[in-house]
Amino acid sequence: MIKRFPFLLLALAMALPAGAQTVSAKARQIQESAIVIDTHADTPQRFLDENFDIGSVDPKDHGHISLDKAKAGNLGAEFFSIWVEPETNQGHFARHTLDLIDSVYEQAARHPDRMMMAFSVADIERAHREHKLAALMGIEGGHSIENDIRLLRDYYRLGVRYMTLSWSNTNEFADSSGDINKPGVEHHNGLTEGGKQIVLEMNRLGMLVDISHVADKTFWDTIAVTKAPVIASHSSARALSNHPRNMTDDMLRAVAKNGGVVDVNFYSAFVDENYRKAAEAQAADRAAAEKAYTDKLKAEGKTPAYVDLDRIDREWSAKIPRPPLSSLIDNIDHIAKVAGIDHVGLGSDFDGVSGATPEGIDSAADLPKITQALLDRGYSAGDIRKILGGNVLRVFGECERVSREMQATRQH
Ligand SMILES: [Zn+2]
Repeated sequence: MIKRFPFLLLALAMALPAGAQTVSAKARQIQESAIVIDTHADTPQRFLDENFDIGSVDPKDHGHISLDKAKAGNLGAEFFSIWVEPETNQGHFARHTLDLIDSVYEQAARHPDRMMMAFSVADIERAHREHKLAALMGIEGGHSIENDIRLLRDYYRLGVRYMTLSWSNTNEFADSSGDINKPGVEHHNGLTEGGKQIVLEMNRLGMLVDISHVADKTFWDTIAVTKAPVIASHSSARALSNHPRNMTDDMLRAVAKNGGVVDVNFYSAFVDENYRKAAEAQAADRAAAEKAYTDKLKAEGKTPAYVDLDRIDREWSAKIPRPPLSSLIDNIDHIAKVAGIDHVGLGSDFDGVSGATPEGIDSAADLPKITQALLDRGYSAGDIRKILGGNVLRVFGECERVSREMQATRQH
């Protein structure tokens, strides 16, 4: 087989902006030698709503993920987020979940020479050897299972390998940080008894338990009940940006004790306190603009697509200056110091933050800049490889081990 990618890399290097040239040969070498794993990208919304093709080479495309961009950043594995917007999909969460799962498989089927579906640590390693992007799937929001543990098992069988217990909406079994103070929402004081059974079933299946988005009490209930290490697929440090979606230092230490990993979210408002405050200040106006648009469409008998609301969000995000890359690196550094070097990773939230990422991070092609910045701060090559993906691989492997153990000892 003809290996086309070195030419591709050359072409991309020539097309990249001047900033990309600041990545040293040493940083590049570390990047190329690592299995780089990102645990959260919302690209499936684009696959479904925009009919976006991951093989796109459109230079004007604003998306964070494409096969070329992944190759340029040596991204080895992506956990594609299966996220069902809970308001517009009311009444058919499972149906939309299945449509999103299908959209990921269809992309892999279109590009078998450059991408493969992956369901295990062994699959990720095989994709790495074959120079393909490993495509994994994580469900973002427990509402996708429609309060039915059988659907959870079906999603596992379809290849889903993590589930975020809640998204921004509290569901039947887990409180969310997104509406914990919202009046009128029925809360459970964390995880319900059924929710605890769901966590244990995820452990038994070998599906990673993801605590991003959950309310603080849900986090602590999950840590108390889980038999496998947890992940935070896309969460940053609350000490640096005081957002309820971010993790306190006590939580970071608890994840370390649990053996899990916290994968830093790149969203500007989650990594930078100044940006967060500026975004908060415009939140009411932004919501009003979205509502006006949604109401207009509803009056016409249409449902607004994610991409349309995303476009409005982009316009508002663009009014706030981007934070420096150092804000993102500060979060990685903080988690590495508080939780330990074995408990931090990358959970970009690519294609899910309406373009609001720190300066220099415009797509997966810019991931080597993170490696360079960590080198500049004195991190060793071995430690950087842990952050880039080694820690996630370890936690995934441990989750597989716990699953085998629980299935072997199952009572009949
Ligand atoms: Zn999210």
